[in-house]
Amino acid sequence: MLTKKVWKHINLERLNRTIAWRREVHEEVKVDGVRARYSGARTVCPVCGGEDTEELAVIFSLPYRECRNCGHAFCGVAVDPDYIAEIYSGETNYLREYADMDMYLRRVEEIAEPKVAYVASLCGDRRGLWVDVGCGCGHTLYAAKQHGWSTLGIEPGFAAMETLNGLGIEIIDAFVDESNASALIRNPDVLSFFGVLEHLEDPGAILRAVSGAITPETKVVIQVPRHPSLSSFCCVCMPDITVRHMIPPQHLHIFSEESLGIILGDAGLEIEHVWAFGQDFYELLSCVSMPNDIETSRWPRSLMGCVNDVQRVLDEHGLSDNMIVTATKRRDG
Ligand SMILES: [Zn+2]
Repeated sequence: MLTKKVWKHINLERLNRTIAWRREVHEEVKVDGVRARYSGARTVCPVCGGEDTEELAVIFSLPYRECRNCGHAFCGVAVDPDYIAEIYSGETNYLREYADMDMYLRRVEEIAEPKVAYVASLCGDRRGLWVDVGCGCGHTLYAAKQHGWSTLGIEPGFAAMETLNGLGIEIIDAFVDESNASALIRNPDVLSFFGVLEHLEDPGAILRAVSGAITPETKVVIQVPRHPSLSSFCCVCMPDITVRHMIPPQHLHIFSEESLGIILGDAGLEIEHVWAFGQDFYELLSCVSMPNDIETSRWPRSLMGCVNDVQRVLDEHGLSDNMIVTATKRRDG
């Protein structure tokens, strides 16, 4: 039976999510977007094949469209795959944060730990192997180890591998596909994809590949940006200052609960739990502050203090900008 949960507390001040930080990230994502090489317009929904789609916003010259059938939001042009590979080959913002161990542990505590605790609550006493595909800097695996899982990370061409090994986190440099899925993922108890599917041209392909390599006992955990949301609306209203959520060509997809369900279903997977949460209210405040040069330190303390409470209301109204779903392979799948 599908169950739902909303809201997650987060302290974005602890993560230095200032307006100055936002300006810096904005310059980087804007460069990636403005320089993007692409061909042909895409107007058909890549998830359900629906032809009734409309333009939502044009961000850094790249259009996003929304499917009226399944609610999926997607980049409305075909971005050159070589260009996408190029933008992931350089040093990224989060790699820099990774160099700072104090910030690394804050990210574990604020971002990874609540998610791992959530998965742990669904697993009872069972632990075993947790495989994180697209593990990035390994925050999730760091938290999973503390909860008693043995861990394995998979990340293609990643410069941080040495440091991850220094933390006792095993990482394989690979891109998971049909040819290597069984050998790489080793029939895990938990198989996670945090912030991975939205970056892929065909997010269903990796799910179909891993589906053949797991059993119905494996818990598949997926986090993706969610649509509709207040953050989506911020991007629509203020496309020139966006720094997250709708950032083409990094995020090629923003998923509705329905569209994610369709992609999982096509891969023989069934959603069990949905957890919707986000940073939407903080995003709105940041968007209105940035063009006016109002740093977060100038926000009234009582305004900063209500960020999580307001977010809870937004989550309850279906406006969260993120979701984590857990799914399992259908026994007939
Ligand atoms: Zn659709």
